[in-house]
Amino acid sequence: MEMNRKLVMIPGPTPVVRSIQSEMGRETASFKDPDFVKDFKQVNTDLKTLWQTDGEVFVVAGSGTLSMEMAVSNILKEGDPVLVLSHGFFGDRMIELCSRKGFAMDTLSSKWGEIVPLKEIEAKLSSKHYKAVIVSHVDTSTGVKAPVAELGKLLEAYEDTLFVVDGVCSSSGEPEYMDTMGIDVLFTASQKAFGVPPGLSIVWASSKALQRRKSLGEIREYYVDFEKWLPIMQDPSKYFGTPPVNLIWALKESLRMIKAEGLEARYERHKKVGQSIQAALESLGFTLLANENVRASTLSNALYPSGVEDEAFRGALGKEGIVVAGGLGDYAGKMFRLGHMGNVDVNELVYTISAIERALVKVGYEVELGKGVGVFLEAFQA
Ligand SMILES: *Cc1c(COP(=O)(O)O)cnc(C)c1O
Repeated sequence: MEMNRKLVMIPGPTPVVRSIQSEMGRETASFKDPDFVKDFKQVNTDLKTLWQTDGEVFVVAGSGTLSMEMAVSNILKEGDPVLVLSHGFFGDRMIELCSRKGFAMDTLSSKWGEIVPLKEIEAKLSSKHYKAVIVSHVDTSTGVKAPVAELGKLLEAYEDTLFVVDGVCSSSGEPEYMDTMGIDVLFTASQKAFGVPPGLSIVWASSKALQRRKSLGEIREYYVDFEKWLPIMQDPSKYFGTPPVNLIWALKESLRMIKAEGLEARYERHKKVGQSIQAALESLGFTLLANENVRASTLSNALYPSGVEDEAFRGALGKEGIVVAGGLGDYAGKMFRLGHMGNVDVNELVYTISAIERALVKVGYEVELGKGVGVFLEAFQA
């Protein structure tokens, strides 16, 4: 028989809980409606407080890629020297974006599964004055986590170098503190660790980043201009572009859940979930692409054991009710990517692993049923 539901366990969009879905289903109000204005204000305040910025947050209709564009367009102008670190596909996307913008860009790229050594970054920093350094916290193509706190420390010595972090696959799942980590621009999107449907770009900017924006004068970009949105973020009853009312309500509900759980507890939960899932996958014969010391908590990129074919496996898994993503770049066909961030609970994780076991059996790979589930539970309960 067909499964009752398809659980979307890709690295975004992540499963959306009922209370968030309900916000999406509400009758849409005017963006001038006083109750909506209050809710939007609350969302902005919560985002700033929780991520500890002395600056501003921008919440606009868009995806993570728009957030990337908004982040760089407001702090750099053509010809500005910038250092982009790449740990995979999304780092490379940032390189492509910065190249289109005509920045004077230097890049440091790691082998997939590894990170750029801090020593190489230090050498670059001391050789030249950069206006910004950009890194993705978790690169979704590799499952690698960048040492954001250490990078922030390193950059303390460079007063005029802004630190930009792509948090699309990490924000609310991996620890990010703008003030203590020295992050000047952090950006994310609604459909990953926030567990909200796709459609919102979220960009935090420190006061230093806002000053940089001011110093640029008029920029070429229009929709993503901080200066256009600042009055709205401070007083959401004002108008620039129509806010996605229902998505903002959905984000408000997600933030209510985050506050109820506690952001620190949420980070701890993600860490435990990541370690437990990764132990379970290894016990079933998968190899993780990311080196152990740089492994993200929000997703797992698992290389197939020999004899397991990508299409057959993901097809069988889909029939068991679980949707996962394929590999990107050179890893297409060689691995699958499993998201386990946001509001996914332990029951959903257990049934994901049990479905992975059943799918392995269906494609003819010998595995002891229940083994992965056992390993997961032992690690999770510890
Ligand atoms: C998903 C993702 C993006 C792109 O986000 P979209 O919403 O797909 O545009 C950028 N960076 C990282 C690290 C991501 O995981």
